Amino acid sequence: MLTLSGIEKSYGERRVLDDVSFDIAPGRLTGFVGGNGAGKTTTMRIILGLLAHERGEVTLNGAPLTAADRRGFGYMPEERGLYPKMRVLEHIVYLARLHGFTKDDATTRARAILDRLGLGERMNDNVEALSLGNQQRAQIAAALVHDPEVLILDEPFSGLDPLAVDVVASVLQERAAAGVSVLFSSHQLDVVERLCDDLVIIAGGTIRANGSRDELRNRHASRRFELVSSADAGWLREQPGIEVVDFDSGWAVFDADDDASAQRVLRAALERGDVASFSPQRPSLAQIFKEVIQ
Ligand code: ADP
Repeated sequence: MLTLSGIEKSYGERRVLDDVSFDIAPGRLTGFVGGNGAGKTTTMRIILGLLAHERGEVTLNGAPLTAADRRGFGYMPEERGLYPKMRVLEHIVYLARLHGFTKDDATTRARAILDRLGLGERMNDNVEALSLGNQQRAQIAAALVHDPEVLILDEPFSGLDPLAVDVVASVLQERAAAGVSVLFSSHQLDVVERLCDDLVIIAGGTIRANGSRDELRNRHASRRFELVSSADAGWLREQPGIEVVDFDSGWAVFDADDDASAQRVLRAALERGDVASFSPQRPSLAQIFKEVIQ
């Protein structure tokens, strides 16, 4: 378990991280979400030891992180940093060798990860000849080639087409399933929602919410309900204790002031016709995000 506790960081007079604390658990994908300037990159750079902080600590299984621990991490920085004139395979082999693998081992690993990321056909191209999306895949290969126990990825999905998003998402899921601790930042809330097990939401340098995705959804469960019935839903607008959000013939979505109002609506709906479904709606990550960053 990688743990950040009470991290504080300022640039000059300006505090950009304040009491940042969260865990990145092994075997889970942790999504790190926040608007521009929220503090995601700064936090990741502090985890990697690339940036000094004034207070707080980062520990791995309870012990302060060492330089050797950090060298073993996989990191995909915000500023992409592959050498444009180098061939893709050669580049990834070179990076694997920096982690101590023999030439043969490094080559086997590099080929496998490039294949897995869909770059099998492009291995002998120069990095600069690849499309931006493919350069990004190569950058992800660079972070993964040495099988790190901890993976820190800054916006790994930005600039990828939907097919590439799926490939990268499944590679990260495989790594997590193998016990790796994965933290990835993203501003694509739909991708994070689909992918992550745990969520950390940051705004203005403070953590606004964190925990498992399902726990957060339950914690922020709205009193929003969906009703599908045989009667036209127009009558709902006259009901006390609720506010209709949307409706269309027999379908309606409404917010109830309390559970009693929702139950009253259900009984009234049954008196008017057959009810095909009546269910609470769980909030989307976008809704939770809006609520917690206010
Ligand atoms: P994010 O990755 O969430 O977009 P960052 O961690 O890059 O956010 O930035 C957090 C805050 O720190 C922002 O307000 C940004 O302007 C500020 N910041 C980042 N780098 C520097 C720097 N080198 N000097 C001064 N301020 C910085």
